[in-house]
Amino acid sequence: MSPVYEDSKKDLVHILLVSFTGQGHVNPLLRLGNLLASTGLLVTFSSSSHVGNSMRKANKNIDQLNPVGHGMIRFEFFDDGLLDNDPRRHDLDLYMPQLELLGKEAVTGIIKKHEKEGRPVSCLINNPFIPWVSDIAHTLNIRNAVLWVQSCACFSAYYHYHNKLAQFPTESDPEIDVQLPYMPLLKNDEIPSFLHPSSPYPALRRAILGQFRNLSKPFCVLVETFHELESEVIDYMSKFCPVKAIGPLFNNPKSQLSTIQGDCLKPDDDCIDFLNSKTPLSVVYISFGSIISMNQEQTNELAAGLLNSGVSFLWVFRPALPGFDVSVLPEKFLEAAGDRGKVVQWCSQKQVLANPAVACFLTHCGWNSTLEALTTGVPVITYPAWGDQVTNAKFLVDVLKVGVRLSRGDQSKKDVISRTHIEKCLREATTGEDAAGIKKNALKWKKAAEDAVAEGGSSDRNFKAFVDELRMN
Ligand code: UDP
Repeated sequence: MSPVYEDSKKDLVHILLVSFTGQGHVNPLLRLGNLLASTGLLVTFSSSSHVGNSMRKANKNIDQLNPVGHGMIRFEFFDDGLLDNDPRRHDLDLYMPQLELLGKEAVTGIIKKHEKEGRPVSCLINNPFIPWVSDIAHTLNIRNAVLWVQSCACFSAYYHYHNKLAQFPTESDPEIDVQLPYMPLLKNDEIPSFLHPSSPYPALRRAILGQFRNLSKPFCVLVETFHELESEVIDYMSKFCPVKAIGPLFNNPKSQLSTIQGDCLKPDDDCIDFLNSKTPLSVVYISFGSIISMNQEQTNELAAGLLNSGVSFLWVFRPALPGFDVSVLPEKFLEAAGDRGKVVQWCSQKQVLANPAVACFLTHCGWNSTLEALTTGVPVITYPAWGDQVTNAKFLVDVLKVGVRLSRGDQSKKDVISRTHIEKCLREATTGEDAAGIKKNALKWKKAAEDAVAEGGSSDRNFKAFVDELRMN
């Protein structure tokens, strides 16, 4: 054990973060971990060893104690009982109970070990999908907080569904629209799709709603959003739950003190050179996050739409996860695109979105990508698939007015989006008559996001109050 670590047990309050295994969960929780560490806390970040092994391949410093500001961050992963390449990890009906069974035992063991060694854990923080972490905290009499990694609007949707406070689609009435307090009417295909009775992912619905069954356990629900973005919904939900907006964690100046990133794939650095070679606001960035993928027909249409539009593009084309659509780039696509296009398997999205060459982001509207686009002032073209993505797309286009809608997601007809429609949306978002207005709105949200996390901003104040609470115990 390093001497620094040995010393740290004496004076640093120790916080244990436990993350669900998705990239979209790891990123915000690790950003929170970096931020907490920067204030002088000792943070241990934990997830499955599969996540740990992927992070080690893509990043440095995962196996050491890392100083961040006045505190430190370290990692401790646990075995989920499957080899790294085991496809059963993507069978959620099987994996979720297994993760709970092994995770509960392992996380309890980690906490007891630290207590014995003189570094007791004073707060356990988890993200959604693993509500059993709140049970561990309760059993061991440790404080618990949750980092909600979706919008507050989606939090409200799940809350209202769980507590039967609003009408949602049912098997006998699957087409109804949903009205929730302080929100625009959500059309049937704009509510988080796991709440549809026909959702093919009941394991995810159970996992998310599990946190709402356990909502009395955390003393605080930190939300990766900011007050100015969702003020009415946040104020309303605060009446029922201890929600505190502390985002965007992405680009928070204090979390920049850390170099620790949570990528599970190694980012391709060449794409930054590619962007640097392009003129400002000339490139469309395309990424569908870490899980979903397109079928072959849709890939062909997107490729053709890109070529026909004449825009430059950077496309993250990831290998498909087991159980998801598999496709390849159309033959001769890259030759036809020439210098105009670059395709990579993974990039540093943070660096890409910050690059002046990026004109807009064709996104699946995962909440991280949504907030990252808003925080960097990049307009979007929305291509949601499932879950909260469809709700995020609705807000991006109709409420925040920072984008153009390309598709409505899986609950709608599964028609392939045509190359002509794709081409039209690309033009609309980059050079069309509404493009300047969309960009202006995007820059307005960028400024609001910066203000929220700046010294004395709404999220900064909430975060400091949270840290003060952590220190008091
Ligand atoms: N991301 C990245 N490089 C890529 C694609 C995605 O760094 O090439 C990051 C992105 O910045 C975001 C996360 O992966 O933080 C994806 O989370 P999101 O909620 O957007 O979608 P999910 O993967 O959960 O569907």
